[in-house]
Amino acid sequence: MADGECNCGAVAFLVNTELKDAFDCHCSMCRKSTGSNGIPMVVVSNTAFRLLHGKGSIVSWKNPDTD
Ligand SMILES: [Zn+2]
Repeated sequence: MADGECNCGAVAFLVNTELKDAFDCHCSMCRKSTGSNGIPMVVVSNTAFRLLHGKGSIVSWKNPDTD
């Protein structure tokens, strides 16, 4: 089990499963959005993921380079 939140705390989640499929994404979008060499990610099933609060604060982003 693990929990987490965004930097400002508006969005928080709980994951109720073993975290085993972790990797770092080094694609150009992840490097550009963070200014670092990538973003750490963990893949879990939808049934193991629970949003605790902040649904209204989640937004999507569309890469303008893929239009
Ligand atoms: Zn990426």
